[in-house]
Amino acid sequence: MKIIIIGGVAAGMSAAAKASRIDKNAEIVIYEKTEIVSWGACGLPYYVGNFYEDPNNMIARPVEKFIEAGMNIKIKHEVIGIDIEKKEITIKNLVTGEIFKDNYDKLMVATGAHAIMPPIKNLSAKGVYTLKDYTDGIILKEEMMKEEIQDIIVVGAGYIGIEVVEAAKHLGKRSVRLIQLGERVLLESFDKEITDVMEEEIRAHEGVELHLEEAVQEIIEKDGKVVGIKTNKGEYKADLVVISTGVRPNTAFLKETGIEMLPNGALIIDEFGKTSIDSIYSAGDCATVYHRVRKENVYIPLATTANKIGRIVGENLAGKNTPFAGTLGSAAIKVEAGRTGITENEAIKMGINYKTVFVKDKNQTNYYPGREDIFVKLIYNADTRVLLGAQIAGKKGAVLRVDSLATAIYSELTVDEIGMMDFCYAPPFARTWDVMNVAGNVAK
Ligand code: FAD
Repeated sequence: MKIIIIGGVAAGMSAAAKASRIDKNAEIVIYEKTEIVSWGACGLPYYVGNFYEDPNNMIARPVEKFIEAGMNIKIKHEVIGIDIEKKEITIKNLVTGEIFKDNYDKLMVATGAHAIMPPIKNLSAKGVYTLKDYTDGIILKEEMMKEEIQDIIVVGAGYIGIEVVEAAKHLGKRSVRLIQLGERVLLESFDKEITDVMEEEIRAHEGVELHLEEAVQEIIEKDGKVVGIKTNKGEYKADLVVISTGVRPNTAFLKETGIEMLPNGALIIDEFGKTSIDSIYSAGDCATVYHRVRKENVYIPLATTANKIGRIVGENLAGKNTPFAGTLGSAAIKVEAGRTGITENEAIKMGINYKTVFVKDKNQTNYYPGREDIFVKLIYNADTRVLLGAQIAGKKGAVLRVDSLATAIYSELTVDEIGMMDFCYAPPFARTWDVMNVAGNVAK
C-alpha cells in the first residue's frame, strides 16, 4: 500500500502520523512545497504582535525529527498535477527544478488555502502584506517592529484582521485602522448583538478606528512604497497595509480532474474524508466539512477541524472506516468572543422555526475583583426547544463557556435543560446561576 499526502501541516501531518501508527507496512510519502511542516498558523498574530519572540514556537515538530522517526517527507517539492486514471502525480523539485512523477494507491490532498487578494489598485506596492504563511509572519513582524512604521491599515475584519489590529496595538503603533466592506465585523460568524459588543471593544482601544461599509479602492504609493489608501469614503495615511479578506482553497492544480468541488474550489468530502474520486481523500482548509446542525457540506477553514478530519483520514487511509461526526464551527477570538453551531442568519437561510434569546449579565460575583459584563445569545428550535447555536462575548470568561454550549448542541439539549444544567460555581469564576443558566431560563 502506497499513500501519498500533499501538504504537510495540520491535516496532512495528522493523517500521516495516524496512518503510519495503524499500518506499519504502508509506504507513506509527504510532499510539501515549503521547508517546514507541522506548524501552527494560529500563532502568527501573537508572534507578529511580539507576545512571544521565537517563531520556532509555532513549529510543533521540526522536519528533521519526522525524518529521523522514519517519515518520508519531501520538502520544497510542489505537486503540480494529478492523473487520476494512472493514479500518478507530477511533482516539481523547487530546488533543482526537476519534474518527476510518483504513483499512489491512495492519495490525500491537504494543500490548505491561500489569502484572497481583492481587486484593489497597486496591491503589489512595497508595504502591503498578508498573514497566512510562516514567511508572511516573519516578514510582517520585521516590518511592524520598525520604529518608523506607525500608521497601520488592516483591510478586512474577519478573525485574522481583528487579530492583526490587536498585534499592532500591542506593539504600540500610533494609529490602526480596520476597514471592513460589510456592515459589521465577523459578519458571517456572529450575529449583530454580539458583533456590537466586539465593535465597542475594538473602538475602545486608543488609536484604533473601525470603518464599516467602506470599500478600499486603491493603495496610494510613492516610489513604489505604500503611503496611504483610498476608499469610497476618503483617503488615509498608511506606513503598512495588511490584507485579510479571507482565504481560498489551494486546489487549482486539480481543476481538470473532474473531482467535485464547491464554487470556491473546496474539495467536497464525505464523512470519511473521501472525495468524489474513490482513492482520493482530503481534509483541512482545501476541503469542505459536514456541518452537524446545517446537515450539509460547508467551508469553514479552522485548525480544529483540519486536525480532527486529518486524523480520521489517516485512519481511513490505513484501511479503517471511521466517520467524522460533523463540525459546529466552534471558534473564538481574543476580543473576547466565541461561537458555536448556527447563527440567526443561518437559521433564517435554513428556513427553520427558530427563536433567540440575548442576555446581558455579569461573569462572576460582585464582591470578587474583576467583575465584567458578559453577553450570551442562544438560537434554538422554537418547536423542540433544542439549542442550535450560541455566541458569548465579554472581557473575562466568555470563550471557554462556549465549549459547554458546543457540547449541549452536539447532544441536542434543550434550552430548558441548559437553564438547570449543573455548571460549576465559585465567586471568582461565575455566579450561582451562571449566565448560561440565565439565558436558558430566559428563553421562552
Ligand atoms: P495549511 O496549514 O495551509 O497547510 C497546507 C500545506 O500544504 C502548506 O504548508 C502548503 O505549503 C502545502 N501545499 C499547498 N499546495 C501544495 C502543493 N501543490 N504541493 C505541495 N505542498 C503544497 N484556526 C483555528 O481553529 N483557530 C485559530 O485561532 C486560528 N488562527 C489562525 C490565524 C492565522 C493568522 C491563520 C493564517 C490561520 C488561523 N487558523 C486558525 C486557521 C488554521 O491555521 C488552518 O485552518 C490550518 O492551518 C489548516 O491546516 P491545513 O493542513 O488544512 O492547511
